[in-house]
Amino acid sequence: MKIIDGKLIAQEIRKNLKKEIDALKNQEITPGLGIILVGNDPASEIYVRNKMKACKELGLNALLYRFDQTNREEEIIDQIKQLNCDDRIHGILVQSPLPSCFDENHIISYVAKEKDVDGFGLYNLGALISDQEHIIAATPLGILKMLEYEKVDVTGKHVVVVGASLIVGRPMAMLLLNRGATVTIAHDKTLNLAQITQQADILIVAIGQAKFITAEYVKENAIVIDVGTNYIAGHLYGDVDFASVSKKASLITPVPGGVGPMTITMLLSNVVKQAKGKGD
Ligand code: NAP
Repeated sequence: MKIIDGKLIAQEIRKNLKKEIDALKNQEITPGLGIILVGNDPASEIYVRNKMKACKELGLNALLYRFDQTNREEEIIDQIKQLNCDDRIHGILVQSPLPSCFDENHIISYVAKEKDVDGFGLYNLGALISDQEHIIAATPLGILKMLEYEKVDVTGKHVVVVGASLIVGRPMAMLLLNRGATVTIAHDKTLNLAQITQQADILIVAIGQAKFITAEYVKENAIVIDVGTNYIAGHLYGDVDFASVSKKASLITPVPGGVGPMTITMLLSNVVKQAKGKGD
């Protein structure tokens, strides 16, 4: 069994990104990210702080726009429209979740497709499904980069993705389908889950249930990617029971130190790509 070191892979990608950013700065282009934060959800505050910190470390320009429940939806949309036209900004992200009084999908739909660095807009999702990939959501893109780094050829492999969310499971499944994998997506209503996951050459789990996937869900020598981040009494746990599953897996990501460090890195990579004008 080998552990996939997401922290190390992310560091290597960031080193290359730094070089690309420095080259852009020599052309007087500083990649810029506009972040819209609505409300005061504690987890969102932490995610946004970490994204701003990562931007600062690599020399990207990050601008934060705060709103709360007293703002009207139109005010947030107006800000997005301004950022769409702002040459300093190459990527816009609306930190999810928004307070329930706002229509999140409606608001996100105003982000210009070439600045949708989260890849959650309908254009980018449609491009992914039709195998014309444009901007890919950071978490699935990070997982893809980890598999590439480990020289895993997904062609013809049976991948089971457990979890069907728009930010992880669905785009992950499409990315791998586009690369010739045979993909099964499982979710909360899937019957006989273990029978399905036991068939996986590559098992990707993104459900938000601590240590849910134990050894009996996993085929001998499978590759296991754990996306879960579950905080219990101040400790971080994945969706996979690392202790038992790591005895069976050939490759496995830990939590922490696996998928997590890749996600912000790939977000920054998306911003840089757009600043270079390569994503249009
Ligand atoms: P989500 O939107 O809540 O979606 C969870 C998905 O898992 C849903 O499709 C749900 O099924 C399915 N599910 C839930 N319980 C299940 C079960 N017992 N068996 C099979 N399927 C089950 O969650 P998410 O945003 O995708 O996030 C999933 C986890 O990944 C969370 O722990 C989150 O914190 C973590 N995450 C980590 C990163 C990172 O960078 N490390 C990034 C994103 C997310 P239904 O569709 O039927 O409800």
